[in-house]
Amino acid sequence: MLIITCPWCGARPELEFRYGGEAHIARPADPSTLTDEEWADFLYNRTNPKGLHAERWRHVHGCGRFFNAVRDTVSDFFVVTYKAGETRPDIAGEQAK
Ligand SMILES: [Zn+2]
Repeated sequence: MLIITCPWCGARPELEFRYGGEAHIARPADPSTLTDEEWADFLYNRTNPKGLHAERWRHVHGCGRFFNAVRDTVSDFFVVTYKAGETRPDIAGEQAK
């Protein structure tokens, strides 16, 4: 079983959490100025990398809060978790994977 560290509650089993998709997807300031292709790209297209990926998670069976995590999609290892609204931490050697 994976152990995920909630920034508020600490380390808990993965069963308490729910995946929330890719992190740091910002809604366009003025959607009416976008083309249909740009709007569709915002709504549907995600990076899906092999390696380190910034993701949203929610501690559903705990504090209920959303937070972000950088997870290695190959090994399922959680490199770091951080509060929603904080910038993604720099991770040394990130491009090596
Ligand atoms: Zn929590």
